Amino acid sequence: MDTVLSRRTLLGGAAAAALTLTVARTPRARAEVTEEHHRAVVIGSGFGGAITAAHLGRAGVQTLVLERGLRWPTGPNSETFPHMLSPDHRASWLSPLPVMTGAPPIPSLPYTGLMERVKGNGIDILCGAGVGGSSLLYHGMTLQPGGEQFAESVSPRIDYELLDREYFPRVARTLHLATIPDDLLYHEKYRSSRQFLERAAAEGLDTFRVPMPIDWDFARRELTGELSPSYTNGDLIYGVNNGGKFSVDVTWLAEAEATGNVHLETLHRVNDIERGADGRWIAHTDRLATDGTVVERKRIVADALFLGAGSPGTTRLLVKSKAKGLVPDLPDGVGTGWGNNGDRVFSVTTPLLSPGAFQGGPACVGFRDFGNPAGALTIVTGPVPFPVDLGTTSVIGFGTVKGLGRWHYDGSLDDAVLTWDQAYDRDLTRAIESRIRQVVGPAAIVLDVNSLDVNTFHPLGGATFESVCDDAGRVHGQRGLYVVDGAKIPGSTGACNPSMTIAALAEFGADDIMRRDLGTVF
Ligand SMILES: Cc1cc2nc3c(=O)[nH]c(=O)nc-3n(C[C@H](O)[C@H](O)[C@H](O)COP(=O)(O)OP(=O)(O)OC[C@H]3O[C@@H](n4cnc5c(N)ncnc54)[C@H](O)[C@@H]3O)c2cc1C
Repeated sequence: MDTVLSRRTLLGGAAAAALTLTVARTPRARAEVTEEHHRAVVIGSGFGGAITAAHLGRAGVQTLVLERGLRWPTGPNSETFPHMLSPDHRASWLSPLPVMTGAPPIPSLPYTGLMERVKGNGIDILCGAGVGGSSLLYHGMTLQPGGEQFAESVSPRIDYELLDREYFPRVARTLHLATIPDDLLYHEKYRSSRQFLERAAAEGLDTFRVPMPIDWDFARRELTGELSPSYTNGDLIYGVNNGGKFSVDVTWLAEAEATGNVHLETLHRVNDIERGADGRWIAHTDRLATDGTVVERKRIVADALFLGAGSPGTTRLLVKSKAKGLVPDLPDGVGTGWGNNGDRVFSVTTPLLSPGAFQGGPACVGFRDFGNPAGALTIVTGPVPFPVDLGTTSVIGFGTVKGLGRWHYDGSLDDAVLTWDQAYDRDLTRAIESRIRQVVGPAAIVLDVNSLDVNTFHPLGGATFESVCDDAGRVHGQRGLYVVDGAKIPGSTGACNPSMTIAALAEFGADDIMRRDLGTVF
């Protein structure tokens, strides 16, 4: 028999009415359905979600952030994150095996862990799950595209000069960007990075050190033995255990929560978004246990709903809503304009060169090849944490690829699924590989790792500028609904890793939304 209960909760200092509606028979339906109302709800706590929450908090707007994953607090000598060569249940999002390319297939019970593999037709996506989003996992290479590349791949309309003057520097300040200092680069542990720079420079290429959101003293303290290795042995694909990395959880999100106006709920996965008859937004949300069991079902109503679930998360929600008629009149462009940022990973083995075992990281040096006939390229090298020196390191390239991938609703899964034709980035991949071969020389064995496991760390698009939203992220024809993350960007960020552009556009969009919509729309 159904039971009706009611209770009041205090969220972020504001009283939110909570009404428990049903308790029924099947395992899923047995969970409670609770109803709450908030002025602003943000889905996801990566760059887009956290930056938006920080603006809302500063403006005094009571805001609820819904994050499906857990908090991962770090500190000197902590063991917060699993290790690359011995991944455990923490490594992956609700999967019995690690989902990272090449990970040892060590089984574990499903857990609300760090990395999700979103399966697609033609390509998979690897992305983060947890407070701070994919910034927990990212190396932190923070590159600003040039004006020409930005106009070509992101938007010809958005004022690049303004971004260059105001928004990219704002992101750089928040992330405390710093390049690897000489004493570390010339240390034995960073031999593989140095070799790569020297070989690229010898080919006349435009080499550089990548701006990183890292306090490099943490790496120094590892080398003196004060801290156990995390940066300096390259063991950081699941996160940096010692801290010293200015990820989103310890920057924008910490600032948002410190305002007292922003409250974050972990283990809250939004399954569907709907527009109610009164025009307000409903996030149908499951509260999860760490094994993925649904322990409560919530209907969270908001005056304004900000989609910051990342390109795959935001796109899945919008495509589902459109297909199921939960949000009438969503733009036809929903689910289009998706790309992999031209992102491609290679392994390079040069037996006689000896790049070292447990190579120091994160990836922090590279070169630009903007005159390449295939379009602008950036190529960086990443550490390999092998315990023995096999002469192997990894090299990653990016270029501009058109956002041609599409997401479709699959009713049997009740989910949106990506379709990507591998021809879309074939020429670009060839150009990246040929430039890498030029740098590493004919004796090196170059293996395109993504030809064995086609995936990307850099999903972009699915709800892009013009076709779905305006430059600030307002979804066309949907008052109070915003896209604030990488879903806005049509496929590439101009031959750069994407986080800098996602963050700058989130800052730019939030300024505009606070200026024009606060007090009128919500
Ligand atoms: C291993 C790895 C290395 C990378 N290295 C770099 C790098 O060096 N430099 C760089 O610029 N970029 C890098 N990236 C990419 C970069 O991290 C992403 O582009 C960026 O974080 C995307 O920001 P976002 O705000 O769009 O989404 P995300 O940061 O992915 O945040 C989305 C958040 O939404 C949550 N979420 C998703 N769906 C739901 C739902 N239904 N309900 C509730 N919550 C939900 C997720 O758990 C996540 O916390 C890397 C990515 C990975 C995975």
